Amino acid sequence: MPTALYPGTFDPVTYGHIDIAVRASKIFRRVVAVVATNPVKNPLFTPEERVEMARESLRDVPRIEVISYPGLIINCLKEYGASAIIRGLRAVSDLDYEFQMAFTNRNMLESAETIFLMPSAKYAYLNSTLVRQIAQHGGDIGEFVPECVKRKILEKMPV
Ligand code: ADP
Repeated sequence: MPTALYPGTFDPVTYGHIDIAVRASKIFRRVVAVVATNPVKNPLFTPEERVEMARESLRDVPRIEVISYPGLIINCLKEYGASAIIRGLRAVSDLDYEFQMAFTNRNMLESAETIFLMPSAKYAYLNSTLVRQIAQHGGDIGEFVPECVKRKILEKMPV
């Protein structure tokens, strides 16, 4: 299959994100991880920092690139000639929000297909918010994020 977009906040990228990117790269000829720059979630990292960390963390994944995009994902789909949106599904709790997004995107662009991939069970409860909180309280996040991300988070945290 041709090009898929993999959108998210990636604040910061975790092993869960990487797991999904690897799976997507085995299915699609080209995967574009799209770092959302819309400040919906009041992110800890700037878009540039999030892109840089994602690029470094995903550099061994074949045929993947990382970009930032300020607008609607359906416009990004058109610009990149992409046919699919990849989203990771962890627990059932993700479903409600993901349904809203998938149907809304399809309402806006009929050809927009959302494809859900499940991570390895060990990442099924991992998310960026938890990682930030653990780091904030001095916990070890080495199990959840690559070394380059761990370093960046610790730089942001007051000692
Ligand atoms: P968003 O704000 O769009 O949810 P995220 O950066 O939180 O962006 O997530 C981007 C995508 O990666 C989403 O589809 C999310 O479900 C998926 N994802 C994040 N963490 C994991 C994980 N541990 N396992 C599987 N998918 C994940």
